[in-house]
Amino acid sequence: MAKTGEQPGAGKYKCDNCGQIINLDSDTDRMPPCPNCNNTTFKKAK
Ligand SMILES: [Zn+2]
Repeated sequence: MAKTGEQPGAGKYKCDNCGQIINLDSDTDRMPPCPNCNNTTFKKAK
């Protein structure tokens, strides 16, 4: 589980609400709110 504002590490994250995939390029990138639905919780995607 990753939340908006955290630095969960580089990788793909899937929005808990709408399934939008967010790509973080760097371990220091902060999780944005979902660009599609503004949700703030995400799961690590493979
Ligand atoms: Zn979403």
